[in-house]
Amino acid sequence: MSDIAHNIARIQRQISAAAERCGRLPEEVTLLAVSKTKPASAIEEAIAAGQRAFGENYVQEGVEKIQRFASAGITGLTWHFIGPLQSNKSRLVAEYFDWCHTVDRLRIAARLSEQRPAGMAPLNVLIQINISDEQSKSGIRPDELDTLAAQVATLPGVRLRGLMAIPAPETDWQRQFDVARQMALAFNRLKYRYPQVDTLSLGMTDDMDAAIAAGSTMVRIGTAIFGARSTPPRPQH
Ligand SMILES: *Cc1c(COP(=O)(O)O)cnc(C)c1O
Repeated sequence: MSDIAHNIARIQRQISAAAERCGRLPEEVTLLAVSKTKPASAIEEAIAAGQRAFGENYVQEGVEKIQRFASAGITGLTWHFIGPLQSNKSRLVAEYFDWCHTVDRLRIAARLSEQRPAGMAPLNVLIQINISDEQSKSGIRPDELDTLAAQVATLPGVRLRGLMAIPAPETDWQRQFDVARQMALAFNRLKYRYPQVDTLSLGMTDDMDAAIAAGSTMVRIGTAIFGARSTPPRPQH
């Protein structure tokens, strides 16, 4: 087994253990492998180990990888855009990705919807909430959610699937859980209103356990699968 295959197997065991500790099913939590800055060969190893969902932060880099695997005839992969999205890059996200986790204004959601090619299924989108990091410019305030969700839900080219957050780094489990719980409550309220909502993208290597205990359905893991990146590891805001 390659290192990457070992890492994926270890993280899947950690996800299962975290889910079982709080009475959830391991299948309720999807592992998103964050492959930003990593070469296609690393992604191939992950695919060989059974991984199917990949997250990319940089539009151009992501599109190149998507095209490469598509032209190699490899199907069944899902590609998630998880980086900050500028309006002038929205077209590529709409044309190539399956998901966008970082919708934080109507304008970007409307562009994604308009630019989604007619022959493709609607782009799955998550609304990003700025849950703890006041300094960050990405994500809406929790009190802006109802309005934005209602607007996004009417757009034909996107499908509102849930919420995403990047909480400020925190080492204490209980404090990680308290923040994750606020996200889970907002997510549960959204689910009542929109039956297609099923995804809470929350939890990274250091807060995965607390995020799953609170109700996360998708954890985003990069370094612990693919090793350290040469570019700074903190997600950009
Ligand atoms: C890079 C990134 C991750 C993964 O971070 P690691 O520390 O490598 O696990 C998760 N989510 C987002 C939004 C990221 O940008």
